[in-house]
Amino acid sequence: MRYVITGASRGIGFEFVQQLLRRGETVDAGVRAPELARRLEPLLLEAGSRLRIHPLDVTRPESVQAFAERICREPVDVLINNAGVAGQWSGLHELDYEDLARTIEVNALGPLRITSALLPALRHGTGRKVAHVTSRMGSLSSNTEGGAYAYRMSKAALNMGVRSMSNDLRREGLACVLLHPGWVQTDMGGQDAPLPPEESVRGMLRVIDSISLEHSGRFFDYEGAEVPW
Ligand code: NDP
Repeated sequence: MRYVITGASRGIGFEFVQQLLRRGETVDAGVRAPELARRLEPLLLEAGSRLRIHPLDVTRPESVQAFAERICREPVDVLINNAGVAGQWSGLHELDYEDLARTIEVNALGPLRITSALLPALRHGTGRKVAHVTSRMGSLSSNTEGGAYAYRMSKAALNMGVRSMSNDLRREGLACVLLHPGWVQTDMGGQDAPLPPEESVRGMLRVIDSISLEHSGRFFDYEGAEVPW
């Protein structure tokens, strides 16, 4: 199967690439900064042509277009929209609106741009799945603490976008889901996080493997439990 992953330079995205290659899959990895692609190069030694590394900034339309032109030469089975930023954690009286807009641009608009640009390749694939790495922090009913405006709002917008997308694409037989990875030890999650990336990604791959059209438009955590909206 052929998988496309965004935000593959580190953290959860990098772990997705490693685990999928170990399973024998083919992976196209989107990496924002060319100098960060070097982190993936050791994986090429073993994976050879099963790993392809592409420059991709999900906020730049020309970057997304160039990425799509390369990817859409062959069918794609599974797309994993993983790239994301945390944004500033500031309180209501110190909001940085530029940061807020940038966070929404990456976390909510980026996945829409990518899915839309890769649709021709997804339509020709046999996997017919699009997984979006979101966060429980984008769940309205789970928000009892406030704060984290940029991150929460961006992920809530992503969740709604994916719900619409799932309705639009269901008739084409494409399943779209949202995945909460847990609190994971990455640059974003920090070292106090309880979950190593290996465990989170192992769980999310199990969920992705089990998805069919009946799961489309739903929100799961890395253990497969449904997350309240
Ligand atoms: P990291 O900060 O470790 O990695 C983020 C990745 O996203 C990097 O590869 C980064 O690239 C990439 N990225 C950021 N901006 C862009 C952009 N404009 N275009 C392309 N790629 C970009 O985060 P995690 O691995 O922890 O997070 C991955 C996903 O999981 C995110 O969507 C996050 O919101 C979500 N998540 C994480 C949790 C956690 O506890 N870690 C909890 C809940 C959700 P670069 O290296 O170039 O900056």
